[in-house]
Amino acid sequence: MTHLHPATQYQFDVLIVGSGLAGLSAALHLAPTHRVAVLTKRAMSDGSSNWAQGGIAAVLAEGDSFDAHVQDTLVAGAGLSDPEATRFVVEHSPESIAWLRALGVPFSEEDGHLHLTREGGHSARRIVHVTDATGAAVQKTLIETVRNTPNITLFENHTLVDLITRSKLTLPGQDVQVPNQCLGLYALDESTDEVQTFSAPHTILATGGAGKVYLYTTNPDTATGDGIAAAWRAGCRVTNMEFIQFHPTCLYHPHAKSFLITEAVRGEGGRLLLPPSAGSTRFMPNHDPRAELAPRDVVARAIDFEMKKGGFDCVYLDISHQPLDFILEHFPNIYARCLELGIDISKQPIPVVPAAHYTCGGIHTDLEGATDIVGLHAIGETAYTGLHGANRLASNSLVECMVFARAAASHILATPLAAPPALPVWDDSRVTDADEAVVISHNWDELRRFMWDYVGIVRTNKRLERASHRIALLQGEIHEFYAHFHVTRDLLELRNLVQVAELIVRSAHARHESRGLHFSRDYPYMKDKVALTTLVPD
Ligand SMILES: Cc1cc2nc3c(=O)[nH]c(=O)nc-3n(C[C@H](O)[C@H](O)[C@H](O)COP(=O)(O)OP(=O)(O)OC[C@H]3O[C@@H](n4cnc5c(N)ncnc54)[C@H](O)[C@@H]3O)c2cc1C
Repeated sequence: MTHLHPATQYQFDVLIVGSGLAGLSAALHLAPTHRVAVLTKRAMSDGSSNWAQGGIAAVLAEGDSFDAHVQDTLVAGAGLSDPEATRFVVEHSPESIAWLRALGVPFSEEDGHLHLTREGGHSARRIVHVTDATGAAVQKTLIETVRNTPNITLFENHTLVDLITRSKLTLPGQDVQVPNQCLGLYALDESTDEVQTFSAPHTILATGGAGKVYLYTTNPDTATGDGIAAAWRAGCRVTNMEFIQFHPTCLYHPHAKSFLITEAVRGEGGRLLLPPSAGSTRFMPNHDPRAELAPRDVVARAIDFEMKKGGFDCVYLDISHQPLDFILEHFPNIYARCLELGIDISKQPIPVVPAAHYTCGGIHTDLEGATDIVGLHAIGETAYTGLHGANRLASNSLVECMVFARAAASHILATPLAAPPALPVWDDSRVTDADEAVVISHNWDELRRFMWDYVGIVRTNKRLERASHRIALLQGEIHEFYAHFHVTRDLLELRNLVQVAELIVRSAHARHESRGLHFSRDYPYMKDKVALTTLVPD
């Protein structure tokens, strides 16, 4: 790893924004030939990749086939997964796992072979894992490798402010007919509180999802949709943003942010109950004959319905009929975490809420991870590759990160671009405003709450209009701050969250049907005609 002193303008061959599985994989593929900068807004391991538990889907078992994995993914995608992109990911899944093994990721094994688990929606055992903490093990290996790779320079606590594109600059001799090109970016360095300029012929956005746009989410604090918003502002198309996957059961407790209660609890007989004030009644049988074992989106919708109908803060998941030994054997982490918070799950039900889990839409990309702008790629959860369609099949996202990281790196290696001209430095004449912090935190809370209430699991035209109206008000206020005051990470994230919220609402408005993860009470059925993706602008 190279160490640099602060300067106003850095020059590299490739800039990568994000240090999750997508960003670090791309960095390692490019480092043998290119000088790579990895920028990340907090510490290296802060991102969803580190939190992934279940594992990585790959066709490795005897009797499994690429066709079967493709078919399972297309079924989950509810008519919107792109068959070509799906086959591309599936066929490259075994080599991605081989690559991680070669780097030293200690995958769980049985009798000298990889141990494969099976998850909902998969017709075969194909989930490679490191016990129940796969993402943390993968990230640990990649971070160590990246830190020891000479051509990679790491910039922690650097937050992308905006991309610098040819169309935004007036360059000498500029030909307006030339396609728009990304030339670099501005990033806020929190250690110096300065906005620095980074220039490179190639930039990769690997900034993850946007779960923080909702009040309840399983995502880490970094998931504020920054890449999606920045790409959109730069002129990229954004696809299918209405499809947000909600996990049905996240622990509801003031001191437990984003703690997942695995679906296996329902699989082992856990029952969903209304709060004690409403008689602790079991409600799932009223919603679906499969009751608690109905698919993820059906259960999330039922919980949302009951919470909104009764005005409840949460519902309860009860596994206390199982003996303590059974609970300790099957759910040791959940038992321990809940006990820390004073909830003994062998004796009492667990308070739960559904929570935003995965952003299926994103920056429109092709099979090489390329966006609409020359020199700009997007990979990982921030991108829309066509794999997830209207719903994501479990464990397909980590593999997508790796397959498209390699594809984007290969494309960059095959398409050299000239180094950009000198770029203008950031105008830092703006002042700090004493009122800023409270307004920003207020607007964060307001946005996340109304997105939860109006643009969450069940939508209506009226609720979407309400949300649109509020988003417009917030955008005005944030624009004012951004234009006149010193930027902070909170302000940048809020600006991006509001932009992403607008894209979600706009896409949801455009879809006049219910499909996959998007459910509208005004259009409760799926159109039987050919399924269409939502592209903004179309
Ligand atoms: C609790 C949980 C469990 C999951 N379990 C699984 C699973 O078992 N299997 C599976 O396939 N998927 C799982 N997923 C989904 C999967 O983890 C993510 O889709 C995947 O890790 C995304 O990787 P990424 O590299 O695209 O983004 P991330 O890992 O989220 O990384 C994004 C990076 O970008 C940085 N960043 C963001 N904005 C900026 C900015 N403005 N400036 C600089 N840096 C920025 C962040 O700090 C971070 O380093 C799970 C997700 C969660 C939340």
